[in-house]
Amino acid sequence: MTLPAWLTAITFNADGLIPAIAQDHKSGRILMMAWMNADALQLTAQTQTAVYFSRSRGKLWHKGESSGHTQTVHDIRLDCDADVIVLSVTQAGGIACHTGRESCFYQRLDLTGPTPEWQTVDKVLKDPADIYHSDKSASTNAENENASATIDSNNTQAQVDKGSVLQRLDQVLAERKQADADSSYVASLYAKGLNKILEKVGEESTESIIAAKDFAHCDENKDKAAFEAARHELIYEVADVWFHTLVGLAWFDIESDAVLNELGRRFGLSGIDEKAAR
Ligand code: AMP
Ligand code: ZN
Ligand code: ZN
Ligand code: ZN
Repeated sequence: MTLPAWLTAITFNADGLIPAIAQDHKSGRILMMAWMNADALQLTAQTQTAVYFSRSRGKLWHKGESSGHTQTVHDIRLDCDADVIVLSVTQAGGIACHTGRESCFYQRLDLTGPTPEWQTVDKVLKDPADIYHSDKSASTNAENENASATIDSNNTQAQVDKGSVLQRLDQVLAERKQADADSSYVASLYAKGLNKILEKVGEESTESIIAAKDFAHCDENKDKAAFEAARHELIYEVADVWFHTLVGLAWFDIESDAVLNELGRRFGLSGIDEKAAR
């Protein structure tokens, strides 16, 4: 795969990354800084939605994937020596920071006292617990918060109740029909229409296939970390497919039960009986 010319112009660091600063399109306020690799930058340009590279998770990070706080990109700029990117964005929900603040830069050095001291100068607009636990995060990701928290996609969490996750998801998908497109990723999908939702299903399906092929090439004995990352990536992408197909069904007011019933029927058992039997 050869990179397009516009990407080869960029000076990525030794890790293949470039810092990207996101700035509010209207106010000019600096909202956050994160890293991009070539893939992230290419996806950002293609989709005009910010995609970064999460160093902690070692994978692409579609900003807003769990919070719904996506960034619509108006403008992408490169500095003189091609080693810093600035994005001009509209921040969904007005919250760029995972602490629930507008901007990550909410600490200011107070120089008026005898010794300099960091002061928190911005309000939390939304409780992070509400951002990362209630929402769609219930569905698509087990990862909330904490870069360092290991994401358990080796999911030994047998206690995850499959039925209740889908029920919660159905509920969220139904509620989002009334929600403001600026504040919720699902609402923004509904607002863009069925074609956009179907496009996402296609995109995520393709990503799942690629993830499966990548995983198939991994050798646990050769590179354990790469193996785990690829395994997580596959699970993550399939979660994206499930999620977006459910959004597609919700568009028609069809709940996940209908699919479970159909799968159950193929066992000669209705999904409802099957649920009751658990
Ligand atoms: P989000 O992209 O907002 O759905 O969040 C996905 C993950 O990235 C979560 O683990 C957040 O804690 C983290 N995160 C979100 N926004 C930021 C940010 N501005 N800086 C650093 N980490 C973030
Ligand atoms: Zn520079
Ligand atoms: Zn932040
Ligand atoms: Zn995906």
